[in-house]
Amino acid sequence: MSIILGLLSLIVSIALPVIIMVFTDFQVIHFSLFFIVPVGAIAVGYVCGFGFFKGLFLSHKKIKGAHFFIGVLMAIICLVSIKYATYYLTCFDEQTQDIVYTLDGDHISNYEIDGYGTMTFFNYNKYLIENTPITFSRRSRTLAEVSNPTFGWIIAIIDYLGIIAGCLLSGSSIKGKSEYCDTCNKYKKSKKIFKIPKANGKAFFDELETLVKDMNMDVFLEEIIQKHVNKGEKLDEYYECHLVYCESCRTASFKFKLFERTSKNKIEENSSFNYNIKVNYDLVRSYIDQNVA
Ligand SMILES: [Zn+2]
Repeated sequence: MSIILGLLSLIVSIALPVIIMVFTDFQVIHFSLFFIVPVGAIAVGYVCGFGFFKGLFLSHKKIKGAHFFIGVLMAIICLVSIKYATYYLTCFDEQTQDIVYTLDGDHISNYEIDGYGTMTFFNYNKYLIENTPITFSRRSRTLAEVSNPTFGWIIAIIDYLGIIAGCLLSGSSIKGKSEYCDTCNKYKKSKKIFKIPKANGKAFFDELETLVKDMNMDVFLEEIIQKHVNKGEKLDEYYECHLVYCESCRTASFKFKLFERTSKNKIEENSSFNYNIKVNYDLVRSYIDQNVA
């Protein structure tokens, strides 16, 4: 499955930028924000790796370092293919003295440029990198136009790395979403089951720990939760509980995330907070069977 989906998304990631270029002249992989953030390249890389990593996930294969290495190779194939397809379509229109991406004109390989020689695939790309002016503008006012070979190479390399970064990003975001059960060789399932106000946290965790230690108190789990969840009122800062479980080996755990008000007065996840606790599978059975949001 990962091979089929991987090939599919690789093809899409190559075809889409080429089609966009043919119709609009717009080079997706060289689209940047704030001059140097290669968002276009990252997006293309993300699409490139998405099918492969999603396929691994869907077929319950543990995503490992070797898969990320394959991702890097895919990103390189994607980049070279886009560049080659672009080169293949690049023609020079004698009448308008312009570059066109159709096959009607005279192919660029029939031309020579001083200092670069015949416009082969490599020479043409080298020429483009070293001679395409990079425009710095702000609020649509052009501030400066730089055409400098060293600068051109730096920008090109940032864009190329952006494709690789985007591809690896899709892998880590798919991998990061779920835990893996090494006993059963499959991804565990996860669902958000309740939120409790931050103020009730200490008391709730104490009661939860006591309950988990003493299995004779099974029946009280929902009572504890109900006691600390506040209904109706809008939550400010809170803990969010995710139930993570494997149906095959019947293991489960609660994973808590903490959402706090930041200095910018926004509620955001505190990424340094980490609290996990193993719970008895039968204890949380009702939550597994229920469709809780
Ligand atoms: Zn398992």
